[in-house]
This record gives sequence, structure tokens and C-alpha cells, in this order.
Amino acid sequence: MDERSFRQQCKTRGIRLTEQRLAIYRALSTAKDHPSTDTVYRRIKNRFPGISFDTVNRTMLTLVDMGLARLVEGSGGGRCFDPIMEPHHHLRCLKCHAIIDFHNESYNRLRIPRKLPQGFRALGKIVVLEGYCKKCGTSKETKS
Ligand SMILES: [Zn+2]
Ligand SMILES: [Zn+2]
Repeated sequence: MDERSFRQQCKTRGIRLTEQRLAIYRALSTAKDHPSTDTVYRRIKNRFPGISFDTVNRTMLTLVDMGLARLVEGSGGGRCFDPIMEPHHHLRCLKCHAIIDFHNESYNRLRIPRKLPQGFRALGKIVVLEGYCKKCGTSKETKS
């Protein structure tokens, strides 16, 4: 996800490149934690107190549309955003809902079946391993 292609795509699509949109882009592209819209909103609200949640939400979905980020399912069922478009996989903590990136060559080579239910057309794949992160896995039986 690089800023040049963001600027370029805004131009081609006739989207005005405001300070706010740029801030949203930067907040997402530098995030290491697969943030939700809410998280990004809270991160930039300090600098842009007048920004609306809706603007953040729409801009993040535009970034997905531009192919600069992708949507991932958070384990709380919430929508999270991933700025990394290169093939990688996820470790998902069932307790704190953290999503941790990991790389695995054999998962990258997994073949998508040609026939999928209901005429589904797969564009990509991501392997999600569920379990407990280091923090949650070692603190068993403690209050949550
Ligand atoms: Zn955890
Ligand atoms: Zn990721």
C-alpha cells in the first residue's frame, strides 16, 4: 500500500484528496494491528476533531475498492482492515481478538478448488488459524 498509488487513484476517480482522507490513508497503511473503522476513527480524531465516523468508514471502504487494503473478519464478528496485500495468513486470538500476520510457503501454494458452492468466484485465499496469543495463552484461568 503506497501513497503514490493512493494519490493517483484519487485523481483517476475524481476523489478530492483532502487532509482528512490522507490522514485516514496514513493511519491505515501504517497500522500493524488490522484495525476496525472505529480504531482508525479514534486514532485520527485528535488531529481532526471535526471528522465524522461516516467519513472514516467511507474512506476505508474506498481504499478496499481501490485494492489498497482488504477486509478481514475480526473474531468479534466486526469488520477489520488489512493494509497488507501481499499473500500472508492470520493467527486469530479467540480471547483478545488480535489478528497476527504470518507467512507460510505451503499455505501460499494451497490451490483454490475450481468448483465452489453457489457459483462462488474466489479471488484470493487466506488461512486463518484460531487459538490463543502468547499473552492470552499463558494467563489461563485469570479473570478476563
Ligand atoms: Zn490474545
Ligand atoms: Zn494481515
